[in-house]
Amino acid sequence: MIAEPLSAAARLCGKCGMCCNGVLFHSVVLQPGDSARTLSALGLRIKHKKGSSFFLQPCAAYRDSRCAIYDQRPQRCRLFNCRQLLRVAAGEITEASALEKIHEARARAEHVNTLIARVAETNPNRALAQRCANALTAPERTPAHDELDAAMQELETLLERDFRVS
Ligand code: SF4
Ligand code: SF4
Repeated sequence: MIAEPLSAAARLCGKCGMCCNGVLFHSVVLQPGDSARTLSALGLRIKHKKGSSFFLQPCAAYRDSRCAIYDQRPQRCRLFNCRQLLRVAAGEITEASALEKIHEARARAEHVNTLIARVAETNPNRALAQRCANALTAPERTPAHDELDAAMQELETLLERDFRVS
């Protein structure tokens, strides 16, 4: 997540943020070498469950389109490169093409946000997919719910195909 300055990755990440803002992931699990205490002191809200420590997305350290704790970010953040970054690094696509894909995904995520707001009040401190799922639990299903459901599925397809890595 959020790569080093002056690289193509840094330029793209600066215009994206989807692996920090709750669009791509709902949580980040701490790894060996991460200090929960240090990360808490830096402002991350670390939770502990069944022997693992994690923090929820949107990340509290994601501010002004950047990681506010970049030099001390957790291991998972250091190691993550989305499919767009990997493809640019491998010379398979251009930076411009990756940026176009980022713009498309961000626009779709924004559209989902708008549709969620139409049907329900949700917790802004939860990941987009979770807020969408909560909005869709309404007892009465309307065409607006169907539209939201379809938009979220289209976004998920795009994120799975073009951003997440297994
Ligand atoms: S999803 Fe990819 S381009 Fe976007 S911020 Fe994360 S690593 Fe950077
Ligand atoms: S710690 Fe930094 S890189 Fe990691 S999710 Fe938060 S904002 Fe993104």
